[in-house]
Amino acid sequence: MRAVVCVPGGTELTELPDPEPAPDGVVVSVDACGLCGSDVHMVEHGRAVPGHVLGHEFAGRIAAVGRNAGRWRIGAPVAVNPLGGCGTCQPCRRQLPFRCAAVPNLGLTAPGAYAEFVAVPQAQLVPLPAEVPPEIGAHAEPLAVALRAVRLGRPEPAEPALVYGVGTIGLNVIMALRQAGAGTIVAVGRSAGRRAAAGAVGADVVLDSRVTDLASYAAEAGLAFGSGYECSASVGALAETVAVLAPGGVAVQVALNSAPETLDARGLVGRGLTVVGSCAFDAEDYRQAVAHLLAGRVAGADLISERVSLEQVPETLVRLRRPGDLVRVLVRP
Ligand SMILES: [Zn+2]
Ligand SMILES: [Zn+2]
Repeated sequence: MRAVVCVPGGTELTELPDPEPAPDGVVVSVDACGLCGSDVHMVEHGRAVPGHVLGHEFAGRIAAVGRNAGRWRIGAPVAVNPLGGCGTCQPCRRQLPFRCAAVPNLGLTAPGAYAEFVAVPQAQLVPLPAEVPPEIGAHAEPLAVALRAVRLGRPEPAEPALVYGVGTIGLNVIMALRQAGAGTIVAVGRSAGRRAAAGAVGADVVLDSRVTDLASYAAEAGLAFGSGYECSASVGALAETVAVLAPGGVAVQVALNSAPETLDARGLVGRGLTVVGSCAFDAEDYRQAVAHLLAGRVAGADLISERVSLEQVPETLVRLRRPGDLVRVLVRP
């Protein structure tokens, strides 16, 4: 099969043997896979293992079935939860399957979906109805990340919420907040294209972080946020988010910062604030994400900026280091 593998300094298209299904698994023919910012960073900073196949936001059709996975039919469309988890270790019991050492994570510690085929344990499959384009399933992964973040933020109905950063995750957080019944949603971003997308997916107010000071805006508008979601990875963004929370508010750090962040702990105690990190999702978040997409409650497809071929993945991963107005790019192997 054709696959994009990591090489020193980047990625390249190559030929690999077709994967075989494990006894308790299937092989999925990849229909669509999102090009994720975390893959872009891993490649850019040389943290990807040479020969590894990245890609963890995917859906497709069953192409081969293992001997103990007979309930799955060849050709059936499926969304794939890339995170396994044994269900019994301490990280799994704390709903952190991505920290489970017992089960590999597809596209992270096991071969992923920048390829024609991927071997998948059957426990990680979520069936899609035959009439739904499998591409829809590729949005479940970033939406699941957002659902978990919003769950940790505990937004009250009709309460104002802040989303700092409007890349793929920030936009999904806006959609998840709308689903959760949040009140006024204020988003903060830089790129004009992504700010327009934030308005389109449900933000009531979208600020340009280079023009408007968040704290002054919140004071003038009389807004105190019950929850704030830091999705930008900009230095200082978490402190800005914490500063505009209402007493008892929750700041959720979703973006992976590359530099240390400083917070004044005095405000946390005096105002009774919570700061929590949110990474990935568990199996229930993923199933809920698929259900939202299938019911049309969340329009993941609206975020697609571009579809590329496997041949174009290496140059697209480089292009996404400076995404500009690009929101979501899918590879269609
Ligand atoms: Zn991702
Ligand atoms: Zn585990």
